[in-house]
Amino acid sequence: MKRVAILGGGPAGAFAAEQLASAGLDVLVFDEKLAWEKPCGGGLTYKAYSQYPFLIQNSTPKRFITETILAAPHGGEVSLKLDDPLLIYSRLDLNRMLLERAERAGAQIEKARVLEMSRYGQGWQLRTSSGMAHADFCIVATGARNALPEVGTELTPEDTMPALGYYVPGDQTHIDIQFLPRLEGYIWVFPRCGHLSVGICGKGEPASSLRQRLERYLTERGIAWKGAAFYSHLLPSLSAASWKKNRVAGEGWMAVGDAAGLVDPVTGEGLYYAIRSADLAARALLSEAGEPAGRAGQYRQSLRRDFAADLEFGSRLAKRVFLGRFLFGSVPERMVQFTRRSPRFSAIIQDLFAGKQPYLGLKRRLLQNLNGSLYDVSMSLGFSRLVPRKAG
Ligand SMILES: Cc1cc2nc3c(=O)[nH]c(=O)nc-3n(C[C@H](O)[C@H](O)[C@H](O)COP(=O)(O)OP(=O)(O)OC[C@H]3O[C@@H](n4cnc5c(N)ncnc54)[C@H](O)[C@@H]3O)c2cc1C
Repeated sequence: MKRVAILGGGPAGAFAAEQLASAGLDVLVFDEKLAWEKPCGGGLTYKAYSQYPFLIQNSTPKRFITETILAAPHGGEVSLKLDDPLLIYSRLDLNRMLLERAERAGAQIEKARVLEMSRYGQGWQLRTSSGMAHADFCIVATGARNALPEVGTELTPEDTMPALGYYVPGDQTHIDIQFLPRLEGYIWVFPRCGHLSVGICGKGEPASSLRQRLERYLTERGIAWKGAAFYSHLLPSLSAASWKKNRVAGEGWMAVGDAAGLVDPVTGEGLYYAIRSADLAARALLSEAGEPAGRAGQYRQSLRRDFAADLEFGSRLAKRVFLGRFLFGSVPERMVQFTRRSPRFSAIIQDLFAGKQPYLGLKRRLLQNLNGSLYDVSMSLGFSRLVPRKAG
């Protein structure tokens, strides 16, 4: 293999470029914007930086957050301490750092939009906004709005959700997560360097109504958003059926990150999966194992083994997490109450936040701990009845 073209230089494309260029391949990255402030919370979990320590060991500005406040209608709120902090970057900074690493590894980076790709012998001919280029192989990393129809996941409207928000002036030391009535999604308030990123995502609801919900929340919270910069984008959120037929590789190409639909359908976390899929694609491409078709198969299998089976299972859980009912209340309401009252349940939620608790295996852990959690909850309720309130 002589030349690999990487279409898109976000986290997925930049990391694939770094890995392939480090291995000695001739790598050419095309991105129409290069480093930019992509609409995103910018949050990276423990799962991401423990596997890729360079994400934490660098001088790029970032925030370390050790507390999340979870709130649900009728459930009040609870503070969740994060033993494994969440890292929050501005996407401009994160993208720039990743592109610089790719460049240092030897990748050539070009600011251009890929307009069209067509097979040319065993390779590809690319028409870009700056001319024509050839490549032997393509890594498709064009994100959720991939406009190249012949490659990457075919995202139907049911496989995406709108995600939008504001960058507002202000600061706080914790994250807020607010569940809302009848919404398969949530509102977040993320403190970033110099401002707050507040946003909302929700499946099956138009962006205009999500925006209204968010603005109502901001007004109620007294967060001044008028005049603040607005952002909106798409989040892949594949249905269980779409995971089964997900098009992640074909003849002469592999798709990584959002262009392959690789986002957690419950939390919307995509940065880890962008980097991880880029890593797996690079390994498959560099493997000695035989024919190109074999490499595509290897990539598909390693994705499935590594995390795609878990995300597929997550897609079956998502509706129940946000819209389900448990013990005569909504699941978010019970989640907040149990987190407040049961240390065991709180530890499970903390592990979910850190990415240490896969969805496969969650049910078993919940069942193992449910007795204990119910015991914790009833003890705390009984205890609070025994102890008299402070005199007002
Ligand atoms: C509002 C919002 C909040 C989010 N918050 C979080 C969060 O806190 N944590 C988290 O883990 N995930 C979050 N995500 C998901 C995360 O942003 C994505 O999963 C991640 O950016 C995927 O990286 P990527 O490299 O695959 O795609 P992208 O980051 O979208 O990068 C794609 C790149 O391709 C370029 N491109 C596209 N088409 C072309 C073309 N034809 N030619 C040349 N270049 C092209 C674009 O310019 C872009 O730079 C959020 C998403 C949204 C929408």
